[in-house]
Amino acid sequence: MKFSDLGLSADIQRAVAEQGYDTPTPIQQQAIPAVLAGHDLMASAQTGTGKTAGFTLPILQRLTAGANDCLSRVARTPRVLVLTPTRELAIQVEESVQTYGKYLPVNSLAVFGGVGINPQIANLRRGVDILVATPGRLLDHVQQSTVNLSGIEIFVLDEADRMLDMGFIRDIRKIIALLPKQRQNLLFSATFSPEIRELAGGLLEQPVSVDVAPRNTAAETVTQKVIECNREQKKELLKHLFTTRSLHQVLVFARTKHGADALARTLDKAGIKAAAIHGDKSQGARTRALSEFKDGKLAALVATDIAARGIDIDALPYVINYELPNVAEDYVHRIGRTGRAGMEGEAISLVCHDERPQLKDIEKLIRRTLERMVVDGFEQAAVAAPRPVQPPRQPRKPAAAGNAGKSRQGSGKNAPAGGRPQGHHSGKRHH
Ligand code: AMP
Repeated sequence: MKFSDLGLSADIQRAVAEQGYDTPTPIQQQAIPAVLAGHDLMASAQTGTGKTAGFTLPILQRLTAGANDCLSRVARTPRVLVLTPTRELAIQVEESVQTYGKYLPVNSLAVFGGVGINPQIANLRRGVDILVATPGRLLDHVQQSTVNLSGIEIFVLDEADRMLDMGFIRDIRKIIALLPKQRQNLLFSATFSPEIRELAGGLLEQPVSVDVAPRNTAAETVTQKVIECNREQKKELLKHLFTTRSLHQVLVFARTKHGADALARTLDKAGIKAAAIHGDKSQGARTRALSEFKDGKLAALVATDIAARGIDIDALPYVINYELPNVAEDYVHRIGRTGRAGMEGEAISLVCHDERPQLKDIEKLIRRTLERMVVDGFEQAAVAAPRPVQPPRQPRKPAAAGNAGKSRQGSGKNAPAGGRPQGHHSGKRHH
């Protein structure tokens, strides 16, 4: 199939051709006709699949094809609203609108927090057809009556799973309540948790489902491997991987903020330039670490799951799970950081005995058994039994229970960072 088979206008096809694309990606092949036909859409697609053009192209076509086209309108209140979880994604989506809409009389604007609101207000006043926004800043504009959402015809929720992970659900519901009832809705998400399904159920009407990869699987181009090792060996093993494979630009995942800091220090001491990013770091420290990482000044960026949500890096070659996440779906998010847009990527997970339940959950979710790899000198001790986090102890007298409780807490704190978490199956995340 070619772009010319999709019924897009000559102006749109020309802009696409200028990008050097002639074949639509699988998501584009499925999403474009459905959106052009006016259907609601529920699309399971990760970044890197071409999803942005998958919704941008047919939206541009719908806006400019009819009698109701942009030029004929006097008051240019937004007709399309795209919500994204991060400012980076908002910028990226709006750039795509500009790229593909370059021969069309369409105005677009991205509004997001962390920058002055006044230039955005001035731009909104000038008239916008396609508004791309992060939820918080959009609600600021709503509150100041600097945006009018009563003319929205198409609503896009991009990376819905990340939005929910970032705690935007209430904002999203508020925004939806402000939109006209009659509209087309498109929802994109890499994973489909029960929460996303619930949101989709209330939002979409008889949606066309588009599922480009079997749900909850990573890009085909990512090689996923597990190295079974002993917990005590993980640090050495990680250093070994860096030196023997001359790794650079590796995103390393740790479970806790403290663990991420400690690991970055260990790597740094071993001559492997590293920095940690997590929720306790200032925005400035995070931005600096990220830009040094992007510029190749850091060999490793050690991140927690939540911190990593805001990272947008193209073509990351390696992801290493120093510790497995508690929630299996986070594994999919983590390795989705590599293998984007068809590039080769490798995801390596260091798994010790205590993490076997998490590994089992992950393999169940992605419906495949991950390849095991053995690294000489780091073989997992065959006889080691899973170590309980709390050593069994029986207080002799009931009166001793208070003390025993305290000392248990102490031993819990000193337990190695990869200790099997309590409530591992609860599926809760810590923000
Ligand atoms: P996305 O999943 O929207 O973030 O897109 C991932 C990358 O694929 C972007 O760099 C796009 O420019 C690129 N892309 C989008 N559509 C195509 C296509 N049909 N052929 C090749 N690359 C594409």
